Amino acid sequence: MNEKIWLSSPHMSGKEQFYIKEAFDANWVAPLGPNVNGFESDIQNYLDNNIEVAALSSGTAALHLALIILGVSKGDEVICQSKTFSASANPIVYQGATPVFVDSEKDTWNLCPEQLERAIEDRLSKGKHPKAIIAVHLYGMPYKVNEIREIADRYGIPIVEDSAESLGSTYNGEKCGTFGDLSILSFNGNKIITTSGGGALVTKTKGQKDLAVFLSTQARDAAPHYQHSHIGYNYRMSNIVAGIGRGQMTILDSHVNKRRMNFEFYKKAFQDNEDIVFLDEPQGYHSNRWLSCILLPNYKIREEIRLTLEKDNIESRPLWKPMHAQPIFKHAPSYLNGVSDALFDCGLCLPSGSNLTDNQLERVKSGINKYFAIC
Ligand SMILES: *Cc1c(COP(=O)(O)O)cnc(C)c1O
Repeated sequence: MNEKIWLSSPHMSGKEQFYIKEAFDANWVAPLGPNVNGFESDIQNYLDNNIEVAALSSGTAALHLALIILGVSKGDEVICQSKTFSASANPIVYQGATPVFVDSEKDTWNLCPEQLERAIEDRLSKGKHPKAIIAVHLYGMPYKVNEIREIADRYGIPIVEDSAESLGSTYNGEKCGTFGDLSILSFNGNKIITTSGGGALVTKTKGQKDLAVFLSTQARDAAPHYQHSHIGYNYRMSNIVAGIGRGQMTILDSHVNKRRMNFEFYKKAFQDNEDIVFLDEPQGYHSNRWLSCILLPNYKIREEIRLTLEKDNIESRPLWKPMHAQPIFKHAPSYLNGVSDALFDCGLCLPSGSNLTDNQLERVKSGINKYFAIC
């Protein structure tokens, strides 16, 4: 059996254990400490010095706190990009609110401005005022930031920017993770950098950051005894985990470069195959190419290729199944144009890790070529 090629596996820099050892030596084995503060300022320096960062236990926790800070509660509605990972939508339900799903456009595969506006108008006509819009930069490709912002501002609805997959991507030269009223990052094991598990909330003000830290550390009032005026959460990042994050921040840019090179490799490898289509970057968009995705002619071919690769011990994965098509969300209001369903039928994510070797890329290429040669 050939060795396994993963879709996207962790890729350490070698510096992580230095920061972890420091934490052990100083006995900062706790959900606070110098690595937590250091990791937060590393991210801040990377993104934009006008923002604030709260390091948390996961991207999902960051989304949950974002909705709490925006006052989302029972009976509210929150608009969410349908084509995404379920973690974008689940925190809406944690708050007892209802997700309203909106389809994608074809240029970036993200939130469609026309459908978004149609959804807002329709919710308003039903007496509902959506409390927030969750927009996602899928696979590292920025959503239509200006168009979505214009609509959100016109209706006075805040944006929660789900940047879990797009650390290192830019839109008109500015970094993804800075476009939301609140934004989130993820450092899960398969993301462009990882802390094994972790996330962050990016805020525009120190007050919001402080609120996120307060809520994520059990909401203790300023009193010598344990006193609580709010419901708290145990969502803070550990100082050990943050040490991994500090090591990872030193190689983020090279990870982005390598992932973009993977994409270029596939694009060149299949340039003469009319059955394989890639998503190009619109003018002003710069994707970290977290995952290299291809579109195939139909569901059948996509599945046959996926199974062909699997036989050779190569992991690939269909594009995210849209939330409106998930059994758990089948009753949620949805505003659809067919794009996300078509992408799900035809789209496949290829191995994309920053640690892929030339040999491994060649194996993926010849696996796919073999399929087309015999059919
Ligand atoms: C990974 C991911 C999340 C959740 O992040 P975790 O750190 O795994 O909780 C949220 N949204 C999207 C789009 C993701 O890919």
